[in-house]
Amino acid sequence: MVQKQVKFQTRNISVNRKERVVEIPAKPMDYYGENIFNYLECQDIPDKVKNEIEESTLTRKILKKDNAEIVAKAVLKWATEKGATHFCHWFSPLTGKTAEKHDSFLDLDDGKAIQEFKASQLMQGEPDASSFPNGGSRSTFEARGYTSWDITSPMFLMEGTNGKTLCIPTAFVSYNGQALDIKTPLLRSISALSDAATDFLNTIGMDDVKHVVATCGAEQEYFLVDRSFYFERPDLVMTGRTLFGSLSSRNQQLDDHYFGSIDDRVMSFMQELDYELYRLGIPSKTRHNEVAPGQYELAPIFSESNVSADNNMLMMAVLGKVAAKHNFVALLHEKPFAGINGSGKHVNWSMSTDTGKNLLEPGSKPNDNTPFLAILSIILEAVYRHADIIRVSIASAGNDHRLGANEAPPSIISAFIGDQLGEIVQNICEGKTIHPENNERMDTGAMQVATVAKDQTDRNRTSPFAFTGNKFELRAVGSDAAIGQPLTILNTAVAEVLTESTVLLKNYRESGKSVEDSLKLLTKNWLVNCQNVVFNGDGYSDDWIKEAEKRGLPNLRTTPDCLSRLLDKKATEFLTKLKVLSPAELETRYNVLVERYVTLRNIEFGTLEKLFNHNVVPYSIEYKKLLLDNIKIEKELGLSAKTELELVNSINVELEQLNIMVKKVRNEIDNYHGEEISIAKKYSDFVLPEMEKIADGCARLEELIPDSYWGLPKYYDMLFLR
Ligand code: ADP
Ligand code: MG
Repeated sequence: MVQKQVKFQTRNISVNRKERVVEIPAKPMDYYGENIFNYLECQDIPDKVKNEIEESTLTRKILKKDNAEIVAKAVLKWATEKGATHFCHWFSPLTGKTAEKHDSFLDLDDGKAIQEFKASQLMQGEPDASSFPNGGSRSTFEARGYTSWDITSPMFLMEGTNGKTLCIPTAFVSYNGQALDIKTPLLRSISALSDAATDFLNTIGMDDVKHVVATCGAEQEYFLVDRSFYFERPDLVMTGRTLFGSLSSRNQQLDDHYFGSIDDRVMSFMQELDYELYRLGIPSKTRHNEVAPGQYELAPIFSESNVSADNNMLMMAVLGKVAAKHNFVALLHEKPFAGINGSGKHVNWSMSTDTGKNLLEPGSKPNDNTPFLAILSIILEAVYRHADIIRVSIASAGNDHRLGANEAPPSIISAFIGDQLGEIVQNICEGKTIHPENNERMDTGAMQVATVAKDQTDRNRTSPFAFTGNKFELRAVGSDAAIGQPLTILNTAVAEVLTESTVLLKNYRESGKSVEDSLKLLTKNWLVNCQNVVFNGDGYSDDWIKEAEKRGLPNLRTTPDCLSRLLDKKATEFLTKLKVLSPAELETRYNVLVERYVTLRNIEFGTLEKLFNHNVVPYSIEYKKLLLDNIKIEKELGLSAKTELELVNSINVELEQLNIMVKKVRNEIDNYHGEEISIAKKYSDFVLPEMEKIADGCARLEELIPDSYWGLPKYYDMLFLR
C-alpha cells in the first residue's frame, strides 16, 4: 500500500502549503513596463531617430541601418544595466509555442572580455530551421531560416534565477522569404487591413485617417492544479489533459465557483502574476474564478493586435513560471478534465483609426450611424464568406473536445448582434426605416443602486462571434492557441470585403449618390447577402445545428474535417490575393497541422495505454487480492462473501473489456499507413471514441476501487485540494 501513503502525503502537502509572500510596490506606476525597452523614453536615442522609428512602426517599413545601430547601442546599455547578459530572437514557429536561441553579449577584444551588440544582431538572426515544423516545405540541407526584428512589438527582459536575457520579438522566415511562423502572416494581415480600411474611410470622407489598426484583447482561461498532484498524473504531464477520471459528486452544478471569492493561495498567485505582467508592460486588468472548480480567468486591456498576440504568448509563459513558484501548475489545455467546463480564449477584436476612433462604436443612435452600420455589414459579410477558414484558424486536437460540448460555441461559425442591432439589420434588409429608441435604463428594482445604462447587446455566451457593445468577441478560440492565427484570418477576411466595398462605394458615388446614400446601399447589399450568418438564438441547442444546415452554413466538426479547406484554392483566395499567405505557405500549414493532430492523438493513446497497464491493472489486481483473500476466509467460515464476490466480478468484467479494447486500438494504430489526413480521420473517427470508452471503463473502476488502492490523484484532489 505504498500508493496509499504517497497519495495521502501529497494531499497533506497540498492542503498545508502556505501562501507565498512577495513584496509588491503599492503603485503600478512605479514598476509598470520596467522590463520592456521603451525607445520613446530612452535618453540615448535622439528625437529625430525616435520620430523615424515611429514612422517605421506605423508604415511597417524597415528601419535604416544607422538608426538600428543607435537603437542597438541604446538597448545594450539599458539591458546590461539591468543585469542582462544574453539576448535572443524570440519567435513563434508553427509549433504554436515560442522559440528562443540565446547569444551572449560577450565578445573578445584581444583576449579581453567586452560586451557588444551590433545592429545586424538586432535586425537579423539565423537559427537552424530544420528542426522546426515546416510541413515539408524545405529539406534539411536548405535549413537556413531567418529571424528578423519586429519593430512594432517591444523588446523585453526575461528573468531567470541567475540572470536576465533581452528578448527581441522577431518574424521567422525561410531563405526564400516563406513564412515559417505565426507572426509574419499576422503582420501582413495587419497591413492589408490598415490599407483597405484607410482607403474605405478616405472614400467616405474621413480624409484625416492615415492608418487603421486591428485592436485585440484576449481573455485567457486556465486551471490551477497543485504541483505535487500534477507530477503524479503522467497524462497531465504528457498530454496536458487527464485521459480519464471519475467526476467528484459536486463539481460545477451549484454554479458557485464562477466569480466566487478567490481562495488565499490562488489570490497570492494572482497578485504575483499581475505584478510580473505589469513589469513586462502587459496590462492585466481582470481576474476571477471561472465556471469549473479550479478554473480561473485573466484579461488584459486591449492593444494593437500584433502586440496583443505577443503579449498573450508571453502571458502564457509567465502564467506557468509564476504558478510554479506557488507550487501550482497552470493547465492551458482546452479540456483538462472530462465532464466539467474546458478553457477557451475570448479574442475581442475591433478596428481603430490613428485619429482615435473605434470603428465598431455604435454611438447612442446606431440606426443613424451609417458608417458604423456599413462596417458592421462588412464584418458580417467577411465572417459569412470565410466561416470555414475561420473555423480552421481555431482548429486543434484540444479545441475539438470543447467546441459544441455545451460549454463553448459549436463548430458552426455564426455571428450574434443582439436584438436592437438585429432589428435594425432586419429593417435595412427589408428596406424599412424604423427608428428603435435606445436610451433605455435598466430597472434594477433597487433604488440604492445607480441606474445602469443598458448595453447595445445582451450577453450571448453561446455564439462563436458576438458583438459586445463596441467590439466583436471571437469565443471559439482554444485556451492554448496562439491568437495570431485567428487574428490573421479575421483581419484578412475583413480587408477583402473592405476593398470590395471601396470599389462599390466609388461606383455609387460616380452615379451621383451622396456618401450617406452610398453607405446605406452598401450596407443593404452586404446584409441581404449574408443574413444567414446572423444568429441571435441559443447556439448550444440541437435545433440550431439543423437550422444552420438549412442555411447552408458549414459545420466542420473536427480538426481533420476542416483542415483540407486550407488546400481549397477558392476558399483561400482572399489570403493569397491579399498576399497574406501564399499557396505554398498554406500547404505548409496544412501539412504541419495534420501531422500535429496525428502526433498528439498518438501520444494520447500511448499514454492511456501505459496508464492502463501500469496503474489501472495493478490497482485492480491488488484490490482483488484483498477481496479474494477475504472470500477464502469467509468461505472457510461458512459465510457467503456475497459483496466481495460481486465486487470481484464487476472488476473482472471491466478489466477484461478494457484489456480487449486497449489491445484492439493498439493493433489498429500499428497498422495505420498511407496519407496523413486519412490517418488523422481514423484518429478522430475511431481512436478518439474508443479512447473515450476506455476512459469510461477506467472511471468505473476508479469508482469500484477504494481510494487507498487508487494511487493516481483523482479529480477531487486536483480540483478541490489547494
Ligand atoms: P467581458 O465582460 O466580455 O469579459 P470586458 O469589458 O472585460 O468584457 O472586455 C473583455 C476584453 O475586451 C478586454 O481584454 C478588453 O480590453 C477588450 N476590449 C475592449 N474594447 C476593445 C476594443 N475596442 N478592441 C479590442 N478589444 C477590446
Ligand atoms: Mg468576454
